[in-house]
Amino acid sequence: MPKTERWSVAENLDLKMVIGGKRLEASNGARIETEDPATGRVIGSFPAATADDVGRAVENSRAALKGEWRSMTPTARGRVLARAAAILRREADRMARIETLDSGKPLREARGDMETSASYFEYYAGMADKLQGDSIPLGPDYMSFTLHEPVGVTAHVIPWNFPLTTTARGVAPALAAGCTAVVKPAALTSLTSLLMADILDEAGLPAGVYNVVSGHGSEAGAALVAHPDIAHVTFTGSVRTGQGIMKTAADHVASVTLELGGKSPVAVLADADLDAAVEGTLKAIYMNAGQVCSAGSRLVVERKVHAEMMERLVARVSAMQPGHGLDDAAIGPLVSADQVRIVADYVDDARRANSLKVLVGGRRLAPAGMEKGHFYAPTIIDDAPADARVVQEEIFGPVLTVQIIDSPEEVVAIANGTPFGLCAGIYTRDISRAMAFARDVDAGQVFINQYFAGGVPTPFGGTKLSGFGREKGLAALSSYYRVKCITTRL
Ligand code: NAD
Repeated sequence: MPKTERWSVAENLDLKMVIGGKRLEASNGARIETEDPATGRVIGSFPAATADDVGRAVENSRAALKGEWRSMTPTARGRVLARAAAILRREADRMARIETLDSGKPLREARGDMETSASYFEYYAGMADKLQGDSIPLGPDYMSFTLHEPVGVTAHVIPWNFPLTTTARGVAPALAAGCTAVVKPAALTSLTSLLMADILDEAGLPAGVYNVVSGHGSEAGAALVAHPDIAHVTFTGSVRTGQGIMKTAADHVASVTLELGGKSPVAVLADADLDAAVEGTLKAIYMNAGQVCSAGSRLVVERKVHAEMMERLVARVSAMQPGHGLDDAAIGPLVSADQVRIVADYVDDARRANSLKVLVGGRRLAPAGMEKGHFYAPTIIDDAPADARVVQEEIFGPVLTVQIIDSPEEVVAIANGTPFGLCAGIYTRDISRAMAFARDVDAGQVFINQYFAGGVPTPFGGTKLSGFGREKGLAALSSYYRVKCITTRL
C-alpha cells in the first residue's frame, strides 16, 4: 500500500463524546485537536467535556446501572464482553493504525495492544458468571451467605502511553462485575477509547453502560473524580495526579485503585544468560520509547559482566533506527514536544550535575521528513550513583541508567533504593538467588529471566509511590464488587 493511503486510514477522525449511548459535542462546543507525534501534523479532533457534560455522563451511567444491564444474567453480560473481544480483533488493524498515529508507538506494538485489549474482554467475559459468594457456617440456627454486588458507577482515568489497553484493563472487569463505566482518556490520545464505544454498541452493550468524556484532566478529569455518584476510581497516571485524586475521592469516600509511576530495576548477575539479559534489557527500556510505567529503566549489573553488557547494549542501541510508527521503526517518537523536553532535561542534568557518562544517545533526533516530530535518541547513562536524579525519578523516555554492583549480595538493596515499587527483574541461573530476590524486593511484579513475563491473567500493581490496588487477573475484580452478607435466624 502506498504511504499516503496507509496513513489516511486513521486521518480526519472527528469524534464525539459518548454519553448515554449518544454521540455528543461538548456543551460549550470546545474541541481538542490531536497530532501525529512523528510529524506534528493534526490528525483529528474530539470534544473537550465540561464539568456539566461529565455530570450528565455520570447521571446516564447511574441510570444504566438500574436498567437493562441489571436485568441481564451474568452469563449474558459475559457474552457481550466476548462479542466485544471478537469485534475488536476484527477491527484490530484499523484500531492499531489509529493508536500508532495518535501515540507514536510502532505499529507492531499497537497491534500487540489491540490483542491485549481484546484479551481483557475475553478473559473477564469468562468471569462474569463466576463471581459467587460463600456460605458461612454459623451452626444449625442460622443461614448465612454472601452476595457479590457491583459497586456502581466506576470512573476510569487513563494515561497517554497505553490508551486502549489501560481502558480495557479497567473497563472489562468493571463490566464483568455488573458495574457501569465513565472513561476519561488522556487529552493527547483519546481516539481509540472513543472508538471502543462503537465496538461495545455492536457487541450489544446497553446504552449508558460505557461512556467516554474526552477532555482535559483539570476540568473533565477533576469533575469526574469529584462526582458524588462515582463509587470507585481506577486511575493510571503520575504520582502527583494520583495523590490529588485520592484526596478528592476521600470527600465522598469512593475507593481508588492507583497505578502510578515506576523506576524498575533489571538486575543482571554474572552467571546470567547474557543473550537473554541483553534482549530483555532492550525490551524493558525501549518499548514505546521508554514511556512505560513498568519499564526496566535501571540496569543493575554485576561488575564481572558490566563491560560485556555495555559493549553489546551499545552496539544494539546504535543500530536502532528512529522513524514513523506506521513504518514500524525500531523506535518511534515520544508522545509530545513537552515529553521530549522533560527527557532532555533529565539527561542534561545527569551530564551537568553528576558528570555522568552518556554511552550512547543523549540527544534529540529529527529523522528525514519528520523534522517536526518528537524524537529522542535511545540513551544509556553508565555507572550512575544511587542518589542521582536520573536514578531516583521516573524519566518516562528511552533512557537507561546503569548501576554497578560488586557482588550479588548488593542486588536487593540497590533494587529497593528508590521511592517506587512497581516491577523488578532479575537474570541469573541461580534459582535460589532469584527466589530470594523475589522474596525481598519491594515490587508488585517480579520477572525472573524474562522482563515483562506474564499477561492478562497475572495481577499487576505497585507498592510505595507506585500505588496500590491490583489490576489484571482475578485480583482486579475485587475493586468492582462489594460483598453483602445476609444472615437469617431460623
Ligand atoms: P497524568 O497524571 O498527567 O495524567 C493521567 C490522566 O489523569 C489523564 O487522563 C489526565 O487528563 C488526568 N488528569 C490530570 N489531572 C487530573 C485531575 N486533577 N483530576 C483528574 N484527572 C486528571 O499522567 P500521564 O502523563 O498521562 O501518564 C504518565 C504517567 O502514568 C507516568 O507516571 C506513568 O508511570 C504512569 N502510568 C502508570 C501505569 C501503571 O499501570 N502503573 C500505566 C501507565 C502509565
